[in-house]
Amino acid sequence: MSAYADGVLIIYTGGTIGSVHEDPKDPLSPLVPGSMDQILESLPGYLPRDKKIALKGKLVRVEAISLDEPIDSSNIEAKDWQEMARLIKEHYDDYEGFVILHGTDTMAYTSSCLAFMLEDLAKPVIVTGSQLPIGETRSDAVQNVVTAIEFAVARTLGHPIVPEVSVLFHNQLFRGCRLRKVSASGYEGFSSPNLLHLGQAGEHIEVNSAVVRRPPEKPTRLNVAMELDMDIMSLDIFPGMKPEVLRTLFDTPDLKGIVLKTFGTGNAPTTKEFLDAIEYGVREKGLLMVNVTQCMQGEVEQGLYEVSAGLLTAGVIGGLDMTPEAALTKMGTVLGKGLKSARDVADMMQLDLRGEQRASIYNVHFRPAEADTDNGWPVVLRDEDGPLTLEQDGDVFQGHLQGNAPYKEKRLIRAFLRLLGIKTSDGRRGRLDFKLYLDEPDAKEATAEDIPTYLGTVSKRFTTDMDNVILDITHQAKQFIDMGHNLHLTLVPIGGRDVEIRDAHIALMTQD
Ligand code: ASP
Repeated sequence: MSAYADGVLIIYTGGTIGSVHEDPKDPLSPLVPGSMDQILESLPGYLPRDKKIALKGKLVRVEAISLDEPIDSSNIEAKDWQEMARLIKEHYDDYEGFVILHGTDTMAYTSSCLAFMLEDLAKPVIVTGSQLPIGETRSDAVQNVVTAIEFAVARTLGHPIVPEVSVLFHNQLFRGCRLRKVSASGYEGFSSPNLLHLGQAGEHIEVNSAVVRRPPEKPTRLNVAMELDMDIMSLDIFPGMKPEVLRTLFDTPDLKGIVLKTFGTGNAPTTKEFLDAIEYGVREKGLLMVNVTQCMQGEVEQGLYEVSAGLLTAGVIGGLDMTPEAALTKMGTVLGKGLKSARDVADMMQLDLRGEQRASIYNVHFRPAEADTDNGWPVVLRDEDGPLTLEQDGDVFQGHLQGNAPYKEKRLIRAFLRLLGIKTSDGRRGRLDFKLYLDEPDAKEATAEDIPTYLGTVSKRFTTDMDNVILDITHQAKQFIDMGHNLHLTLVPIGGRDVEIRDAHIALMTQD
């Protein structure tokens, strides 16, 4: 082996890009799915005998393999993603980069799924395709393939390396798990509306280094998360959607998760029938539901508006600015990990695993403290899992909060205390007033409010039989995340009734 593995391996999976003229000498002969050799021979500067291509004054090694049966990408299934990932794993040490030729229709799913499957990736994996077959005179294929190869052999050519699953299309390099197909036939067929592209090709190759993910610190071997659980679906909410239809859908045997595509910043109908149906799906059928926006750009701010707080109470988790393609394939890989509880799965879904969402959300869950299980006032809750330590072990959120190194490397952007599904114990409507303290288990009505452990006072008038409280506690969180011991959350009543709280947690939004 040379000092480092050089050259590129092209993996051909099918799609429009691979069509060539039946008779290579007759440009008027019909287009048919081409062999890998025919595709390579269409590239200017390719030397078939040497298996090299001339690029920037260098001869670069190019080898190619193909799926057993190249397919139109509309027929792509989990087994094809597994095969692509397996091929990359098998040849990982032999090349400096990989190019996958793929149909454009489902490219965003494939590039997202591969991003989640390939763990600790330290080399470029670039997916590309074209709107016109490589055999067409006015095709965009040659430009796309050659540029993808240039990004893949960045090391040999002296460009910055992009050690991610990315997509090259029409001279732009996009993060694979941020990609959207935006045009059915235009040459600018793709975009990543919520993230600046990773690079561009003009006369020179340019890389937007500030956006590109850093390679793993200790280059380990590539790990492939082969298990995918695709008993999932994505579902567009639309005006007038019938809750009965949802319930029937949720009864589908073996269904495990749904990507809910909602309006605007994560909003959906607020009628009791609709929310009851969603809750039936989450709580009774055990479905993992993630909320992403139907909009091309922007993000879900679940719980910010009344119209999405209901989804939060029903147990739907927010997907921030994830694309539907990323949310679906992330769900397939996370479910495939076989984590022990539904909550572990939901917690992991909220972490930024590959740069697919702009932040990670770590949840600190609370339960009633031992001495206080009767739901009476004051309610004292402690974090569920012992010493609070936020540690990440690979992709798995191991723990809890404690100001140790892995957490400090992340920047806390915002922290929310969420008390969901609050109702009065006697089920009646009325006023509810309480003060909230963190780590002040003996707090009383007279306890001072100008101390760091005071989170705020809640004053609510119940107009429905269940309600939520969402408090921005970013300021206080900056102080308590370093305390390194069990946290108590105390609700001190100021008159009013006893309450029951279905779900109390602190959501910490962090960035690398
Ligand atoms: N139907 C084709 C495919 O996705 C379209 C294309 O490649 O552009 O395989």
